Amino acid sequence: MSKNVPITVAHGDGIGPEIMDATLRILKDAGARLDIETIEIGEQVYKRGVNTGIEDASWDALRRTGILLKAPITTPRGGGVKSLNVTIRKMMSQYANVRPCVAYSPFIDTKFPGMDVVVIRENEEDLYAGIEHQQTADAFQSLKLMTRQGAERICRYAFEYARANGRKKVTCFVKDNIMKVTDGMFRAEFERIGEEYPEIEKDNIIIDIGCARMADTPEMFDVVVGPTLYMDIVSDIAAQITGSVGLCPSANIGEFCSMFEAIHGSAPDIAGKGIANPSGLLHGAIMMLVHIGQGDVAETVNNAWLKTIEQGIHTGDIYRDGVSRERVDTKGFCEAVLKNMGGTPETLKPVDFTSGGPKKVQLIQPAPIRAVKKELVGFDAYIDHANIKADGLAEKVKAALIDGMTLKVIASRGTAVWPEGTPETYTGDHWSCRFIAAGGGTITKEAMVKQLDALNQAGLDFIKIETLFDIDDNRAYSYAQGE
Ligand code: NAD
Repeated sequence: MSKNVPITVAHGDGIGPEIMDATLRILKDAGARLDIETIEIGEQVYKRGVNTGIEDASWDALRRTGILLKAPITTPRGGGVKSLNVTIRKMMSQYANVRPCVAYSPFIDTKFPGMDVVVIRENEEDLYAGIEHQQTADAFQSLKLMTRQGAERICRYAFEYARANGRKKVTCFVKDNIMKVTDGMFRAEFERIGEEYPEIEKDNIIIDIGCARMADTPEMFDVVVGPTLYMDIVSDIAAQITGSVGLCPSANIGEFCSMFEAIHGSAPDIAGKGIANPSGLLHGAIMMLVHIGQGDVAETVNNAWLKTIEQGIHTGDIYRDGVSRERVDTKGFCEAVLKNMGGTPETLKPVDFTSGGPKKVQLIQPAPIRAVKKELVGFDAYIDHANIKADGLAEKVKAALIDGMTLKVIASRGTAVWPEGTPETYTGDHWSCRFIAAGGGTITKEAMVKQLDALNQAGLDFIKIETLFDIDDNRAYSYAQGE
């Protein structure tokens, strides 16, 4: 018998404490070998004025145990505070998010009885980095910053997961027809890494039709992988159509600390009523047990849960007349699972985590950053200017050009408005002016700084720049629409 494993537990906000109590009771009864250390994070900590929602001592606990079982946290909307969930994932470098979405037909009502999809989500970057700025009176931006390492790591994780768990196909969700630089890189990494897994079928799909297909024909998917925002949406769709968003777990895997939770949030609409379904968090705990090498306990818990579901003992979110037998609250559901401990389901397939169950994927280290040939061929200077037309701005900018520099294009929100453009395009106070070398070729950083100084001297309010590079002789920036 292995010795106790230290873990950190956070009871969370809203329905969090209710579903965590049920989960811990079940784990204890099943004989989970755990030393539990509890931390307080979330709403109460935000209220104490800690903007991150987590105090220093709690980080120490996470580093010490390397495992966090976490109930959902309420993220205050707007204002200065950041999502604690995202903070933990990023600060602890939990690069892979794994969300199995499984149907339990005919016992839980679903239109997709055979559904068994694993959503694998990049967990540290993309738009969830939350790098945002208001740049003018009218213009707001959120930076979509993605790295090759991030894409490579998560795509490799998805293929490794598929290989380890006997999955046949991995589908990549991107929008590379529009975002050719960022999503294009992600898809290229997916295809490059996929070649190392010849036995696994590979497919890719544009995110919009991908979501529609997930909602309509989820059988076409097996393992799916993509950048974080897309896959957050995809996993909620996938979870909901299995029968309830309250069923599915989420594992956040990293080298230093892994976090296990439900995919749903703190459900403030039902908090305190004692009616929440604890299954998502319980499945998170099952993934945790497998992760820490207690597959035997995970198996006992999962089979007791399956038996309870099969008996038609259901919380309100999955209760259906004619399908369910007894509507129970959180405590009632917990009692039923406890009563079934040691039992196995009769119709649903029992899990076998000791020999054939989910396999842990080995830690994937980021690849070293490779050397590239990088040539500066120009820059975009963003200018805040209200009450002006593109032609008028072009005249002002051209009057401030330094020797050897030329103004190639002016764009408004990514659409060219000068020298070509359509009069219908709305232009506000946020302009992007593209500067390149007058005779083509490269420019120097000194010339760039000199040009910015000239814009400043001319009273033009530049608010940011983006450098334009050719990397390994390829254009490494997008053209404006219509450029
Ligand atoms: P939510 O997932 O909390 O709730 C969506 C709907 O699903 C609600 O009607 C809710 O009652 C229902 N629901 C969710 N979990 C359920 C369960 N276990 N049993 C029965 N019904 C359940 O999403 P939301 O309302 O958008 O978010 C509420 C809060 O949770 C927000 O502050 C959000 O930021 C936060 N959130 C946290 C996490 C996390 O901690 N990982 C994830 C998502 C949202």
